[in-house]
Amino acid sequence: MAYSAADERPLAVERRLPGRARRRTDALHDYEKSNAERGSRFPSPLWPFFAPDAARCYRWRAELDCGCITELLTHGDSIPPHQHRLGNGLTGEPLPPGQLYCEHDASVPAPYRDITAWRDRREVALPPDTAEPPEGITAELWTVLRRCEPRTEAFWTVLLECGHSTEVVAPSLGWKPAHGPCVVNPARVREMAEEFDHAAAADPALLETFDGQHMRRMIAAGWPSPRPEQPCSTCVHARTIVAYQAVGWLIPRDTAPEQSTRPARDVLERRLRRAEADAERLRAELAQIGEAPGLG
Ligand SMILES: [Zn+2]
Ligand SMILES: [Zn+2]
Repeated sequence: MAYSAADERPLAVERRLPGRARRRTDALHDYEKSNAERGSRFPSPLWPFFAPDAARCYRWRAELDCGCITELLTHGDSIPPHQHRLGNGLTGEPLPPGQLYCEHDASVPAPYRDITAWRDRREVALPPDTAEPPEGITAELWTVLRRCEPRTEAFWTVLLECGHSTEVVAPSLGWKPAHGPCVVNPARVREMAEEFDHAAAADPALLETFDGQHMRRMIAAGWPSPRPEQPCSTCVHARTIVAYQAVGWLIPRDTAPEQSTRPARDVLERRLRRAEADAERLRAELAQIGEAPGLG
């Protein structure tokens, strides 16, 4: 899949999309149900951000680059859906603006992307490896790789060039990005290069795979650890909005009053002065009572 840098504004066209929008009452019912669930997870001051009022929601239909058409909600109607961050990846991390997760084929291999930033670090205590080798590893190799003691590893969240993120295990607990990757000694790298050439000669299809190409690049770079490029499974399923269609407010708004029926500026200014004078008078009365109510 082609991708654009995360800070680039995605392009999408506004046009009529095939098919129809869902019934508005169904969309509203689903929204209120999911909103009540979201609202219960956050303290009420945060509701406007995580569970906004349905009256603020605008409906869109969007076509993704996989051909699927889906419905979306945004806060307000001023910014089209492809300029919002609306989607989440498999692990819940927000996707770049204009992308949604739409999985079609779980067997598609993940492409490798360069790491562009190192973000958060966390330490994870791991139990000893199981005696049973993991899938794809022979029992013989497992006797060499298996770690029998519990250990702690440092995991770094990294941003990739595609705008997605993933986690990388550091070569040691004390390792920091400023140290740069550790490399293997040149004699061992030459051996690895020869082994790889043999494997590629026996199975030329290896060079066509993302893993084979990655391995060749890493051997050429001295087998660095951590690897400066990581497989991005999000890239396989993150789809881009290519077209969108406005549907309307989730709760229909009253039509805007006609210019002729809107009160003139001087009328509104007069009303405002009267309301301010009333408020002033009430404050003075309250002060005389001497018991201010518990409002700020
Ligand atoms: Zn799709
Ligand atoms: Zn990606």
